[in-house]
Amino acid sequence: MISDHINQELLTLKEKKNYRSLPPLIHDGRNVILNGQRMVNLSSNDYLGLANNISLRKEFLKTITPETFLPTSSSSRLLTGNFTDYQELEQQLAAMFGTESALIFNSGYHANTGILPAVSNAQTLILADKLVHASLIDGIRLSSAKCIRYRHNDLSQLQRLISENHNAYEQIIIVTESIFSMDGDEADLHALVQLKKSYSNILLYVDEAHAFGVRGDNGLGCAEEQNCINDIDFLVGTFGKAIASAGAYIACRQVIREYLINKMRTFIFTTALPPINIQWTSWILEQLPSLQEKRTHLLRISNKLKTALVDKGYNCPSVSHIVPMIVGASENTICKAEEIQRKGFYALPVRPPTVPEGTSRIRFSLTADITEHEIDQLIKLING
Ligand SMILES: *Cc1c(COP(=O)(O)O)cnc(C)c1O
Repeated sequence: MISDHINQELLTLKEKKNYRSLPPLIHDGRNVILNGQRMVNLSSNDYLGLANNISLRKEFLKTITPETFLPTSSSSRLLTGNFTDYQELEQQLAAMFGTESALIFNSGYHANTGILPAVSNAQTLILADKLVHASLIDGIRLSSAKCIRYRHNDLSQLQRLISENHNAYEQIIIVTESIFSMDGDEADLHALVQLKKSYSNILLYVDEAHAFGVRGDNGLGCAEEQNCINDIDFLVGTFGKAIASAGAYIACRQVIREYLINKMRTFIFTTALPPINIQWTSWILEQLPSLQEKRTHLLRISNKLKTALVDKGYNCPSVSHIVPMIVGASENTICKAEEIQRKGFYALPVRPPTVPEGTSRIRFSLTADITEHEIDQLIKLING
């Protein structure tokens, strides 16, 4: 019976301590309250602290009237859902990135599960970093391409795979994140671009989910920082993290945009985001270049935490605002996370299968409205 199977599976998850449930969180600005305990949120993706900035919301609301407040698009963009707000935001994005065009999706998950199946076929080889996000893995699974995963950031293995395989496929797509979700380390986009350029049939796909808003002089991400925006064929990012909104984008050539509009199922077969959400995203993006101070502060406190962890003997690969404290054993990690939470910081343990066996960690995800003083307090709590 199906229900027996489901019950058994849930029991197994509980036994293996991999059972998930929704935490009954109450939000209060940059704090969260869980079971009556108030904690500074060190697990948020609101990297610039924009999502709980009331004055920003007040400013935005001044631009809205009941006539322009559109809470739904009521349709796919290919039918009647194509409000002018979308085209305006896409033009704004293309101008910011200096690309021919841009296209908006309902989420990063929609983007990553839709683009790869649309642009690849059985004559495609996808070479993906071992640590790419689940949404990219699902996109690869839905595609008819052959896929090989290369060791995390191992460019010599990638080079070898390319030289062994490039003759056997019509096209190769290299897939990576720029800042990686769990280690907080970074891909060498410049080197990937060089590699791509030495062959005629390679395309490069970069997911900037954790870097958009946070990196580069205008907050456009690692591709801006490494000066290679126009060398990336599929430059993807989400509005759900530093941008304090929802949705996602690709900055790309016009021909790729047209192709996706025609072929991408997660773009075609879904109701477009509410226009009010698109207006908010656009409004936040206008502010993005002027948020350099927040980006600098975020990097400063991140460096401080990382340095302290290394001083206390932890191996910490991070070069970003995602700072893992790699403990090793799951039990020990959970104990330490609970201890840190009791002291008022909401940091969460991450265990296998999300991370490799033996590398359970507390994942600090810092935001620009955490103070240096709070980081100092956190550092005092951490023992070597
Ligand atoms: C969060 C995330 C996504 C998904 O984006 P959503 O807009 O939340 O669906 C995709 N890729 C990476 C690397 C992410 O961290």
